[in-house]
Amino acid sequence: MFDLKTRDIKYLQGVGPQRAALLSKELNIASLHDLLYYFPYKYVDRSRLYYIHEIDGNMPYIQLKGEILSFETIGEGRNRRLVAHFSDGTGVVDLVWFQGIKYLMGRYKVHEEYIVFGKPTVFNGRINVAHPDIEQAKDLTLSSMGLQPYYNTTEKMKRSGLNSHAMEKLVKNAFALLQFPLPETIAPKIIEKHHLMSLDEAIRQIHFPQNPELLRKAQYRLKFEELFYIQLNILRYAKDRQKKFRGLYFERVGETFNTFYSQNLPFQLTNAQKRVIKEIRKDMGSGRQMNRLLQGDVGSGKTLVALMSMLIALDNGYQACLMAPTEILAAQHYETIVNLLFGMNVRVELLTGSIKGKKREQILKSLLTGETQILIGTHAVLEDTVNFSSLGMVVIDEQHRFGVAQRAKLWNKNATPPHVLVMTATPIPRTLAMTLYGDLDVSVIDELPPGRKPIQTIHQFDNRRNSLYAGIRKQISEGRQVYIVYPLIKESEKIDIKNLEDGYAHVCEEFPDCKVSKVHGQMKPAEKDEEMQRFVNGETQIMVATTVIEVGVNVPNASVMVIENAERFGLSQLHQLRGRVGRGADQSYCILVTNYKLSEETRKRLEIMVQTNDGFEIAEADLRLRGPGDLEGTQQSGVAFDLKIADIARDGQLLQYVREVALEIIEQDSQGTAVENEILWKQLQALRKTHVNWAVIS
Ligand code: ADP
Ligand code: MG
Repeated sequence: MFDLKTRDIKYLQGVGPQRAALLSKELNIASLHDLLYYFPYKYVDRSRLYYIHEIDGNMPYIQLKGEILSFETIGEGRNRRLVAHFSDGTGVVDLVWFQGIKYLMGRYKVHEEYIVFGKPTVFNGRINVAHPDIEQAKDLTLSSMGLQPYYNTTEKMKRSGLNSHAMEKLVKNAFALLQFPLPETIAPKIIEKHHLMSLDEAIRQIHFPQNPELLRKAQYRLKFEELFYIQLNILRYAKDRQKKFRGLYFERVGETFNTFYSQNLPFQLTNAQKRVIKEIRKDMGSGRQMNRLLQGDVGSGKTLVALMSMLIALDNGYQACLMAPTEILAAQHYETIVNLLFGMNVRVELLTGSIKGKKREQILKSLLTGETQILIGTHAVLEDTVNFSSLGMVVIDEQHRFGVAQRAKLWNKNATPPHVLVMTATPIPRTLAMTLYGDLDVSVIDELPPGRKPIQTIHQFDNRRNSLYAGIRKQISEGRQVYIVYPLIKESEKIDIKNLEDGYAHVCEEFPDCKVSKVHGQMKPAEKDEEMQRFVNGETQIMVATTVIEVGVNVPNASVMVIENAERFGLSQLHQLRGRVGRGADQSYCILVTNYKLSEETRKRLEIMVQTNDGFEIAEADLRLRGPGDLEGTQQSGVAFDLKIADIARDGQLLQYVREVALEIIEQDSQGTAVENEILWKQLQALRKTHVNWAVIS
C-alpha cells in the first residue's frame, strides 16, 4: 500500500535532493506524511474583496479587484522602485516593488483586470501595497480560494525559495499524489460519538479550508487526536504498572508517627498539611504503589509533610530516603529533620558527594543492616553502591531538577518499588500537570502557615538606586539580611559573571560597613557551599548571587530580595527567587529592578509579580505568556512537547475531556483486545515508536 511515512519527500514534484535536505534539517520534514502534518500557522481569508475606499493603513492582508492605470519608476539606486497606480473605481492605491522591475513591467499590463493581495500601509499620505500577489481576475473564482494557508519557514529556506507560497504548492502536489483517502487513526465509534471530522477531511481542510467553520472542525479533530493519544499513552502506562507492581502495604500508623505528632511537632499543622498527609496515608494503605506529586508554594511547609510520611514507613518496618537537588539543601533538610526528631529514637544520616572514606562506608553499612532509618542526600543516594535493607518510601524534593530516569532508579532499590512522593514548589497548572504527570496523583498545599506577612513586591527603575539603597541600609541596621540577584543566561555566561562582579564591587563600595558574600555557578561546589553557609550563619549581611540560590535554601532572617535586570527573568523564576525571603515573622520585600525600556510582555510579567504572591496564579499567567515549552521542568519531564496543533494553555478543557474519553476506553478494554478499539492500540504503538520520549514516561 501507499505508505506516506516511507515516501521520501525528495521525490515529490518541486522538491529534489537540495530542498529535501533543507526541509529535513530545518523543519524535520522527511516524508510525505511529515509534510502533510506540517500545519499552517495562520490563514488569510481570500474569499472576500474590499473596495479601495474602504481600506486604511491599519488593516491586515486584504484583496482588491481592479486595473493598473499606469506604471512609474521612482527614486535612484537602492531606493529605485516600480509603482503601479491601481484603481477599482472607488479610489487609487499604489502597488510598489523594489525588485524585478523590468520583469514586472513585462508581465502585468495596464487596463487588464487583476486581483491584488497584500498588506496596505500609508506612505506619504497615500495607500501603498508593497510586493503584492497579483493574479489575473479571470483565473480565479473567489469561493474556490477560501482561506489561504500560511506556513512558517526559516530564513535559510526562504533564501532557497522555500517560502510559505512554495510550501503551499508542495502540499498541493502531495495531495495530488494521493489516490485514496488517508487511513483513519481514531476508532469509528469515537469519531461518531464525538462528532469528529474524518482524518482525511481534517488534513485537507487544515491546509486548504473552504470556510472558517470547516477549518474549526478540522482543528478540533486534530487537537482532539493529539491530546487524546497523549492521555491514552500515559494512562495505559499507569494501568500496566499498577498491574505489574503491587505496592507495599503500610497498614499501621504507629508509635513513631504518633510520638512525633503528640510530642515533637512544634506547631499546629495547617489544614492543607493535614489533608495532604491523609491523602498520603490512604495511598500507602491501599496496596498500590504511591506515585504522588506534592505541590506547595515556597514556604508552605512541605518538609514536615515529607517527614511525617517517612515516619509512616518507619512504623511499618521500612526505611525512608529524602533526596534534594543540592548539597546545601540536603544539609539543611538533615539539620531540620534531626532537630524535629530530637529526643526520639530515630537514626538519620546524611549522604552527599563530599562525604567520603570511612564515614561513607559506615553509612552504607548501617543502611544495609537497617540501623539507619532515614537517609537524606543528594544524587549520591542513587549510586549503585547505596543499598538499603528495606526501602519503603522515597521523597524527592524540588522535582524539576531530577529526570524521569532517576526516579526510576530509586524504584529499583527495593524488591517491591517504594512509595514515591515528589515535591515541587514550582506550581504547575492543572492542565500541564495532567499532560506531564498524567500518572501521578496530585496533592496541593494551598495554604501558608499562619502569621506570615505577605511579601511586598515593588517594581523600581534602576535610576532610583539611592532610595533602594536607603531601604536596604535600614533593613540591615535592624539586623536583617539581603539578597541581590543578577541574571544568568547560559549563552553569555562571561558577560553575566562580569555583571555580577561589577555589581559585587559596587555593593561593597556602597555598603562599606557590611560583609558581602558572592556566589555564582562557576564556583566549585565546595566553595559555593562555604560561602552560602557564611550567609546562613549570619556572618555576611548581603548575598550577591546569580540564580544558583533559586532553590530551597532557608534563611529566615533574610528580608529583602533585590532582583537586578528583572526583565531578564521568567515569571516562575522570579516567583521562586522571591520565595527566598518572607520565611520569618518580619515584613519582607522583593524589589524588581529594571531600566525604562520594557516590552509589553515584560511589563505584564512585572505587574503580575507586584499584584500577587500566589504561585498558581503566576504559573497560569506564565503558561499564557510563554507557552509550555519554556516552562521549568518540561524539558526534563520526559514528555515531548512538540505539540503540532493543540495548545496546553488554551485547550485545557479539551484536554480534560479527552482524558475522560481515554480513561473510559482503558477501563472498558483493560486488556486492549476489543476489536472496536483495534485502531487505537495500533496507533498508540506506532506513536510510541516515533516519539522517543513517549517510551520513558513512567
Ligand atoms: P517549603 O514548602 O518551601 O519546603 P518548608 O517546609 O521549608 O517550606 O517550611 C517553611 C517554614 O514554615 C519552615 O520554617 C517550617 O518550620 C515552617 N512551618 C511549616 N509548617 C508549619 C506550620 N503548620 N505552622 C507554622 N510553621 C510551619
Ligand atoms: Mg522545601
